[in-house]
Amino acid sequence: MASYQPKKEWRGRTKIADIQTFVDQIHMIDVHEHLPTQAMRAKDQVGFFDLMHYLDSDFVSVGADREALKRFSALEKKEKAAYFLTYYKKCSNTHYAKLLKKALEDLYDFNDWSVEGILALDERITAFSKDPELYQKVLVDKAKIDLAITLIITTNVNLDYFLPVLFYDDYFHVRCAEDLHKLEKETAEQVSDFSAYLALIDKVMEQHIVAGCPAIKLGHAYFRTLEMTEPCLEKSEKVFLMMKNKQEALLKEDDYRTFEDTLIHHIIQKAAAHDLPIQIHTGLQETSVSGDGNDLRHARAAHLIPLFLKYPQARFVLLHASTPYIYEYAAIVKNFPNVYADMTWTYGISPSLAEQALELLTDMVPQTKIFGFGGDYNHIEGTYAVSKVARQVLAKVLKRRIETGYFSEEEAKNFALHIFRNNAIDFYKLNGLEKGAVL
Ligand SMILES: [Zn+2]
Repeated sequence: MASYQPKKEWRGRTKIADIQTFVDQIHMIDVHEHLPTQAMRAKDQVGFFDLMHYLDSDFVSVGADREALKRFSALEKKEKAAYFLTYYKKCSNTHYAKLLKKALEDLYDFNDWSVEGILALDERITAFSKDPELYQKVLVDKAKIDLAITLIITTNVNLDYFLPVLFYDDYFHVRCAEDLHKLEKETAEQVSDFSAYLALIDKVMEQHIVAGCPAIKLGHAYFRTLEMTEPCLEKSEKVFLMMKNKQEALLKEDDYRTFEDTLIHHIIQKAAAHDLPIQIHTGLQETSVSGDGNDLRHARAAHLIPLFLKYPQARFVLLHASTPYIYEYAAIVKNFPNVYADMTWTYGISPSLAEQALELLTDMVPQTKIFGFGGDYNHIEGTYAVSKVARQVLAKVLKRRIETGYFSEEEAKNFALHIFRNNAIDFYKLNGLEKGAVL
């Protein structure tokens, strides 16, 4: 693994009394984003309509066309701006809307919510996307994020800002010969039988480790249940060969399920053997991403309990606090030594829910098992805005704990350093990054 240096001389040691000020000056390790590299952003000439991300879901929820504001939409920019304003007015109360507003106000000094104002802003954002200092200015200087673990499609990222994590869904969510062929093409490998297919997955994982990936990610809660059946190599081999021979029409859902589950078991076993953490999406699915196929009930962290029992040596990170099932989530993380809490995205969905989740985790889960911040955004404007909220939520919880005598001031600061920085450095083995300490 590569080693990483903090961007600034940050000692992480302070005597500042006010807990909000203390939390505000922590240089965070951001444990989960979907950020493109700066080069990708410049190439795509990202503008205003590329910043919709989560707000898109609220627009869909209130009846907007899913595609209207997308890049390939038939609408002209002026029409898009008018369309945006129509739906923004209906959604301006939601936290996703508030986050966009905050990002635009703070980073672009924007307050002209008219068609003309948005078109002018779009030009400014597109110009800013080409600024070679963009990520330094926003992520590091303004959001005080030393390093972000980002879910991305390549391991070729600027390690000054990011560590890449890749989805493994494509390796088990395979439905036909075409899917297999696509994977063969991507990996430049030929797979003739199931054991060769397993070896291909092993090889990919080893390549990811060498490239500096600190974890793997499973996102299957978006398209199926987290519930698992037992692996069956024999049946999976048959399914594999039938797909390979283009006999998919003869396969039933149950066959695919065995195939997928067998591969998920294999991926977990391999990750555990490499001591590589396994990040799993739990809870709320984003409608703008998952279409109409959402079924929240499939995504409860509780479905994963048999896996936690079966693989005590694996390290499972449960993303998003299984929102909204935060009570059972806290109980699961409390009980299993191989399961870790991750607050990613919760502050964006709802600061009040995030606050409740943090309160529960503070009571129930050892502080070395909680990862306190991940923005889960696909643009740095969102990451910046939600990082501000996360700092406010944590400081609010800690202030209350200090006032009631639950934490001394020093304990509260230690807790903050653990969940915003130190735990990530230890857990993801980020050698070279300095941990914070209270004087
Ligand atoms: Zn994510």
